[in-house]
Amino acid sequence: MTVIRYDFRSDTVTRPGAGMRRAMAEAEVGDDVFGDDPTVSRLEAVAAERLGKAAAVFVPSGTQSNLAALMSHCGRGEAFIAGQDAHCYRYEAGGAAVLGSLQPQPIAHAADGTLPIEEVAAAITGGSDAHLAPTSLIALENTSGGQVLPIAYMGEVAALARQHGLGLHLDGARAFNAAIKLGIDMAELVAPFDTVSVCLSKGLGAPVGSVLVGSAELIARARRIRKMLGGGMRQAGILAAAGLYALEHNVERMADDHARARRLAEGLARYPALAVKMPDTNIVFVDSDAAIGEPLGEHLAANGVGITGRYGQHRWVTHLDIDDAAVDAALGMVGRFFDARQGN
Ligand SMILES: *Cc1c(COP(=O)(O)O)cnc(C)c1O
Repeated sequence: MTVIRYDFRSDTVTRPGAGMRRAMAEAEVGDDVFGDDPTVSRLEAVAAERLGKAAAVFVPSGTQSNLAALMSHCGRGEAFIAGQDAHCYRYEAGGAAVLGSLQPQPIAHAADGTLPIEEVAAAITGGSDAHLAPTSLIALENTSGGQVLPIAYMGEVAALARQHGLGLHLDGARAFNAAIKLGIDMAELVAPFDTVSVCLSKGLGAPVGSVLVGSAELIARARRIRKMLGGGMRQAGILAAAGLYALEHNVERMADDHARARRLAEGLARYPALAVKMPDTNIVFVDSDAAIGEPLGEHLAANGVGITGRYGQHRWVTHLDIDDAAVDAALGMVGRFFDARQGN
């Protein structure tokens, strides 16, 4: 197998650098299940403050964070509304149904990543009809496929949720990318939501971990559920230290990832065979005929450029470990692919 030199597969592939590793090595630790780890407690306090919520809990993964949130909001047999392509519905191995006994109610996304408000409203079910699982939560995702949801839209969904007495969760795995793109504070971005999950292990560059923030009551429930799901970690300060370092050093720089994604997209768009979606943030989607996409993917893989392909689409993600030279190298490789085909 060819070694991947330029890894555009995901922003999860970032490796901790020297500064982050030093912070991890020097972290003060204790047994966090006893509430004794000062570094975990500090990460939770910093995350809660930064996102403008009362409390936070550090969890091993975004998947567990979403599940703990859904189970904190909803009881057994209740329904939550989420996007058809939402991570918490589609890409978490059915955990909400399997482990939470929750019924997902998926809604098809509009082209801009939103869930049309009238369709969300129509999907809400009350408790009076014994045929129906009562809705207790709406879950949004931002960014969604790298797209930033409009602030006004999130406000409208929040108003709808309040009107029906529903909880509102944000899967904000990449919410910092959205805040940086919009040039606003995270606290402002996530203000309408009762709970928010944020990945430390994606664009922020930490090796492991997510934080779930919300009210003291919801986070206390999530903390119990985290334990139930096997997410109670002991000297987890070593991991929390990476998250603290990431929040301090790696947020503002996401603007560079967005600029590189844009430059990559513009470079790819020079080839008429590639239908490139201009990115809002750090994810570039490229459609092409399989007759082009397949050999291009093979050419890139053979030359050490890692991308992912799903549903006949290529996905390129920029991150901490992709610099300008990596973008140039990848574009050069694409150029050579099309040159060789012209030569045929
Ligand atoms: C990656 C991701 C998650 C899950 O995070 P893991 O740490 O991989 O479990 C959840 N939601 C979204 C939108 C993601 O991109």
